Amino acid sequence: MTGPPPRILVADDDQSLVRTLTWILKEHGYEVAVCPGGDGLFAKLEETKPALLLLDIMMPKVDGLQLLERLKQDERWRDLPVLMVSSMPPEEATVRALGLGAADFISKPFRVRELLARVEAHIRVGRALAQAREEARSRAAMVDILHEVTDSLKPDEIYHILARRVARALNISKCSMVLAKPGDQQGVVVAAYENPMLRNLQIELSRYPEIQKAVSTGRLVLVEDVATDPLYADERRRWEREDIQVPTRSAIALPFFTRDEQRGVFFLRTTGEDPPLTRADAQFAETVIKTAVSAIEKAYDFQGAVSDKERLEKLALTDALTGLTNRRALADHLTQELDRARRYTLALSILLADIDRFKLINDTRGHIAGDSVLRQVAELLKGEARSVDIVARWGGEEFVLVMPETAPHGAAIFAERLRRKIMQHDFADPGENPLGLTVSIGVASFPDERIHSADSFVSVADQALYRAKNDGRNLVRQ
Ligand code: GH3
Ligand code: MG
Ligand code: MG
Repeated sequence: MTGPPPRILVADDDQSLVRTLTWILKEHGYEVAVCPGGDGLFAKLEETKPALLLLDIMMPKVDGLQLLERLKQDERWRDLPVLMVSSMPPEEATVRALGLGAADFISKPFRVRELLARVEAHIRVGRALAQAREEARSRAAMVDILHEVTDSLKPDEIYHILARRVARALNISKCSMVLAKPGDQQGVVVAAYENPMLRNLQIELSRYPEIQKAVSTGRLVLVEDVATDPLYADERRRWEREDIQVPTRSAIALPFFTRDEQRGVFFLRTTGEDPPLTRADAQFAETVIKTAVSAIEKAYDFQGAVSDKERLEKLALTDALTGLTNRRALADHLTQELDRARRYTLALSILLADIDRFKLINDTRGHIAGDSVLRQVAELLKGEARSVDIVARWGGEEFVLVMPETAPHGAAIFAERLRRKIMQHDFADPGENPLGLTVSIGVASFPDERIHSADSFVSVADQALYRAKNDGRNLVRQ
């Protein structure tokens, strides 16, 4: 058995039986509390919070079965295992007691071994039940957190969601999140449930001994009573000196980690009339926060993975210099457009533009200027194209434009407009001598008996381009 010994409350009016029971149970490692005659049973339960109740059915002043009924209707004691003890005829009492939710029934006189076996079994079941409920509670809270978190992933908002959620799950009015690393003198409060407007407030950790201790040890710190805890001795003297009223009654500072690195603490406080925080609260907080933090890590990982993948995919499809669709991606697009044109008997045209004497630009102005020219040509092409058109860099200084639902005539007009536009543009970088250039353009249109694939489509355009070059450059041919 780990942890403190389980506590058993015995409610019976038979004093000698109570004495015997207490002795046997203590002998077997249990802690025992007594409620003679069942009087004030509820107060006694509150006070002792037992793991199991041994309840006599027949007591002079109260009816054990009635007490049982009330217990089982009470939210707080619903899960408490109750063993009914009685000298009533077993059948009758058993049926009634079990019907009312008793865990078990033991008749007097009982055999010690049997009693112990039943006590042990029911304590185990009771614990499992309590744990299951706790887990369900924190899991439900977690699902909510995840929903909120995946919708908004800015760290700032996540801090606030966490603070709010932890506060609500624990039913605590004050919960803040403080970022601080071991060795830091100051911390930054990044979120506080009690003050949603708060952003990045710097605090001196020396004023918050429990935060300081949690940060430096990496372990949970519970201060059940600020007024008496030795951790607060110095601070209490300062409060007295400076006549400060501190409303805090108890506090928990709970370190949290992401990716194995200590980030800061959750700081939970109760004030005034709130019940003080207990070890159980601290443990529950730890569960909630661990799950919350790992939920957030997962959300971040997921988000990171998605955007990395998108980025990589996008990179693989674009040309690094101009940002245009690259040759590989163009082949796919063109194949799709050709399929569409074939299926719906639509026209489809492409143009292949090649910069005239581009080598000269590299030779006279250098490669950097050459690159800048390529980027500017790309911009001009994008500016002229319709939104349905696809603009691609085909090779060094060659560009392809795909024009869906465009017949040869329209394509030729567009190519001519583009040729003029480029001829009129100054490609020099600011402060440089003017730099003019021209392009030769070959146009191809589907349907055409030579066109049966993306490759053959481009090659027909290339033949037209070759003619444009041969005929003297700065020309459109189709
Ligand atoms: P024309 O097409 O009119 O026959 O002459 P040209 O000088 O343009 O002919 P060619 O196609 O032989 O030369 C293309 C040049 O483009 C060769 C290469 O140095 C240059 N080039 C290709 N890619 C890049 C690039 O990314 N940056 C720069 N600066 N130059 C490039
Ligand atoms: Mg070329
Ligand atoms: Mg060229």
